[in-house]
Amino acid sequence: MSIPLLDLKAQYNTLKSEILAAIHSVLDSGSYIMGGNVRALEESIAEMCAVKHGIGVASGTDALLLSLIALGIGEGDEVITTPYTFFSTAEVISKVRATPVFVDIDPRTFNLDVKLVEKNITSRTKAVIPVHIFGQTADLDPLLKLANNYNLKIIEDACQAIGALYKGKPAGSFGNTGCFSFYPTKNLGGYGDGGLIVTNDDTLAEKLRLLRVHGSKKRYYHLVPGYNSRLDEIQAAVLRVKLKYLAQWSEARRSKAALYNRLLQESAIDIPYVEEWNESVYHLYVVRSKERDVLKSRLAEAKINSGIYYPLPLHLQEVYRALGYKSGDLPEAERASCEALALPLYPEMTEDTVNQVVKVLLES
Ligand SMILES: *Cc1c(COP(=O)(O)O)cnc(C)c1O
Repeated sequence: MSIPLLDLKAQYNTLKSEILAAIHSVLDSGSYIMGGNVRALEESIAEMCAVKHGIGVASGTDALLLSLIALGIGEGDEVITTPYTFFSTAEVISKVRATPVFVDIDPRTFNLDVKLVEKNITSRTKAVIPVHIFGQTADLDPLLKLANNYNLKIIEDACQAIGALYKGKPAGSFGNTGCFSFYPTKNLGGYGDGGLIVTNDDTLAEKLRLLRVHGSKKRYYHLVPGYNSRLDEIQAAVLRVKLKYLAQWSEARRSKAALYNRLLQESAIDIPYVEEWNESVYHLYVVRSKERDVLKSRLAEAKINSGIYYPLPLHLQEVYRALGYKSGDLPEAERASCEALALPLYPEMTEDTVNQVVKVLLES
């Protein structure tokens, strides 16, 4: 039997009848775009995040992109972010013709090292995008203080961290906006693309609602050039079913992570570090080892899938060659890209399967 990194079919099988009923009811309703399911999902997620507004969009990438545009960030501006994330985070900065400024990570959490942010702030810096990587929030309090002192916007990339807590408060609720993705492999995943922005700012919410639908509030009357970036009813209906289970899935992820931790803590493999004030949702369970590639092949031989997130940090990507970063500039991100390994973790995974993975990892 092979062991996947994530088993989406296992989840579907547990919810099949509920999901099919939700999809059928959308099909029967004849309302496929911007209907009741999208509105209800927006309200539920805003409530879960304890913020005023939720705005469904076409993807997590668009959630980030529209946030930058609505906040007026563009040509000539600099935006500070982490090099150790999915490309989207920096891609959107480039798409609005601003410049990403990469700041190294804290090697313990893989998140933006907030201590290094201040010395990278210039007169052009307009925003910071912290990414809550692998399900654990970045250290937000010091960032919010900097944002206040230097008049910077904060856009939380919470695509991997829906339901995570920072000092007891939900990921996404701290910044000017918080961005979520419903890509199928995310902790709350649809059966296609989708995303959502949360914010407490009424004016910003209004702008975002305009931007996602061709700059129009009233059909066929356009106030600004916008986008076609809507979440569709079928995805929203599926996500509403799944949202009811999210808390228990996060708990199941944490309990499997705790088991891995127990089994690996005496070994030479470094287990994930979670700050005492954080509650992680373990989007991924990522260990570290100088022998990462050996461990990965050993797992592969036993038909166990593992994942490398992320093999090349963003400052060294071809697309950013013109920015002039060199190998060695952001040493912790570079080291993480050689040492980090994501092990299989999903809510339906059995303890027995965790044991099997660890057994293969520890045989030498
Ligand atoms: C998945 C992800 C995104 C992009 O979300 P999409 O819905 O795939 O566009 C952005 N940032 C991070 C950190 C992600 O993990």
